[in-house]
Amino acid sequence: MSATTKKMILAGLMAANPGLFCCPLCASPMSLTECKSLICSNHHCFDLARDGYINLLSRPAGGKYGKELFASRKAIVNSGFFEPVDTYISGLIAGRKLAGNGPHRILDAGCGEGSHLAAIQELAAAGPHQSLLGVGLDISKEGIALAAKNNNTSTIWCVGDLAHSPFGSGQFHTILSILAPSNYAEFQRLLTADGRVIKVIPGQNYLQELRGLLYGRSSRQPNADSEIRERFSETFEITEARHFQYKVSLQPPLLQQLVRMTPLSWAADQNKLQTVLQLNELEISVDLSVLEGRKLPS
Ligand SMILES: [Zn+2]
Repeated sequence: MSATTKKMILAGLMAANPGLFCCPLCASPMSLTECKSLICSNHHCFDLARDGYINLLSRPAGGKYGKELFASRKAIVNSGFFEPVDTYISGLIAGRKLAGNGPHRILDAGCGEGSHLAAIQELAAAGPHQSLLGVGLDISKEGIALAAKNNNTSTIWCVGDLAHSPFGSGQFHTILSILAPSNYAEFQRLLTADGRVIKVIPGQNYLQELRGLLYGRSSRQPNADSEIRERFSETFEITEARHFQYKVSLQPPLLQQLVRMTPLSWAADQNKLQTVLQLNELEISVDLSVLEGRKLPS
């Protein structure tokens, strides 16, 4: 798919979903001009990138997440490492019948290179009910640029800051927050009245073998996940919850990609890190909880 085609598809998705965006600088509504820019009523203007995404940050954001990390994460997600979790989430989405005719709008808040959203959309599209529109938001331009390389015709990829998110109120039926920081006040604002948040949180044994090899301790801080769960249930009524615990045996190059993907490797001792990078096989624990919640009545 050529860059021009990607940009035209992006413009088409934006034109078909008026009201989706609001200005990240002044919060006024935005409209598409000549299929090349989103412009607000105060003339703040953001151009569509030729590779098929839009950058809605007013200034570039730094970050520790580089190209290599996103490429590794893409390889891990595509290898099926998270498949049971992504399949479950797609089932939650596909199983909901929404009122009205428009597409089921899914925001992946902190989508990185977009692999989870792409996988979930593909799986959920087989559902019986409704067409889907995916919107992937991440503060990293590297992540979004990689996401836009997918030839996906029903996803809008945007660089933006969740704390000043560039979307109108009540625009999303589902918000995904997959191993990413959340902004619950913003989620409340962005959800439709009957919308759902689906949050994936790591349990105590998530990647414990890696933690053991790099830091000599095998489990995460105890109860970290129950604290997240408690905070979630203060803002949302939990409608579904499932715990996933399984092991995946990884060999090179996936093993090295997993190491590069995780922030666990950032502060690790270089010698220990090298030892792990030279392993021929490692069995890795996946321990994740998926929570689905709806807004509490205000
Ligand atoms: Zn503006």
